[in-house]
Parts: sequence; structure tokens; C-alpha cells
Amino acid sequence: MDCIFCQIVAGKVPSEILYQDEELIAFRDINPIAPTHLVIIPREHIPSLADLSEAQSPLTGHMVNIANQLAKREGIAEGGYRLVINCGEEGGQAVPHLHMHLLGGRKLSDKLG
Ligand code: 5GP
Ligand code: ZN
Repeated sequence: MDCIFCQIVAGKVPSEILYQDEELIAFRDINPIAPTHLVIIPREHIPSLADLSEAQSPLTGHMVNIANQLAKREGIAEGGYRLVINCGEEGGQAVPHLHMHLLGGRKLSDKLG
């Protein structure tokens, strides 16, 4: 198992876990690009958004719901925030385990990419 996020799920790599349930965990990004930078991932190793089956697609709604809750908890819900899923090399995905970024706490760039 050489996937870094699977190792975080398994507790083999330490991280600051802020939320967990049967399907998801959320933790602080090790290299934050905003005052709040969290990563929300499924426990299951799904390599990217492109690999998500139709049956698995409700997972993304669950990820958004948890991200919204965490934004409130982090105190960034009123100011605004951004949810990002990078998919594949040209989409900027570095870790090949599906994940959603929750970014906020400062005015984010108007440019998307
Ligand atoms: P990507 O570029 O694939 O969309 O995002 C991967 C994110 O995972 C990056 O923001 C990176 O800083 C974060 N990351 C990579 N390895 C680790 C780690 O071991 N622990 C934590 N907490 N975050 C990580
Ligand atoms: Zn994985």
C-alpha cells in the first residue's frame, strides 16, 4: 500500500484528522495554501474523480456536505470558501486518491487555473 492517503486512513501516517465517519475522513493539508486548507477523502481508494462509478457518485454529495460543515466549524462559512477536486495530471492532481480541497480564510485568486 504505497498510497499516502490510504496510509493516513489506516493511521500509519499521522495527520490532524478533523472529521471521520464510515465513508470519509478530513484532515489538515500538510502544505496549506490558505489559512484554512483541509482535505476530504473517501476511506476507499478511488484513484480520481474520473474513476468514480455512478453507484459511488453519492459520495461526492457527502463530501460537499461535510466540507460545508467543516467550513462552519473553521469559521470561514460567512466569508466564503472554495471546494476543489483536481482530476488527473492536467487537472493538477498530485495524489492519486480522490480528494476534495476546502480552501478559505483569505481572498482567493479570481483565476481558476
Ligand atoms: P492534489 O494536488 O493532488 O489535488 O492535492 C494533494 C494535496 O495533498 C496537496 O495539497 C498536499 O499538500 C497534500 N498532501 C500530500 N501529502 C500529504 C500528507 O502526507 N499529509 C497531509 N496532511 N497532506 C498531504
Ligand atoms: Zn489511496
